[in-house]
Amino acid sequence: MHEITILVGLIKMVEKAAIQNNIEEIDTVVIQIGEMSSIVPKYMVKYFPNAAEDTLLENSKLKIEEIPANGLCHHCNKVFKIVKNKGKCPLCKADDWEMLSGMEFILKEIIVNSQNLE
Ligand SMILES: [Zn+2]
Repeated sequence: MHEITILVGLIKMVEKAAIQNNIEEIDTVVIQIGEMSSIVPKYMVKYFPNAAEDTLLENSKLKIEEIPANGLCHHCNKVFKIVKNKGKCPLCKADDWEMLSGMEFILKEIIVNSQNLE
């Protein structure tokens, strides 16, 4: 279960950014997770409240956007959804392709509680 370790790292990163920007309250943290990264979104959501306990993010929400894994076929140049097509090009059935997206782990946005803005 490495999601907890990832969450702790994420929270530290957000806290650091918040301190640098004099932010005292964070409404929502938005992250992007690639479909083929080894991170399971539902575990991230499940363990976020525990990981955020006693931090600046204690009352914050975690929003996850999943990025589909896309592959580029080396034989016919088709771009296809890797997971849906079980790792084979749907056009020529080749399994010789490169991954274009799907391994991401990105801190996309920190949404600050708007009522605290001057
Ligand atoms: Zn192909």
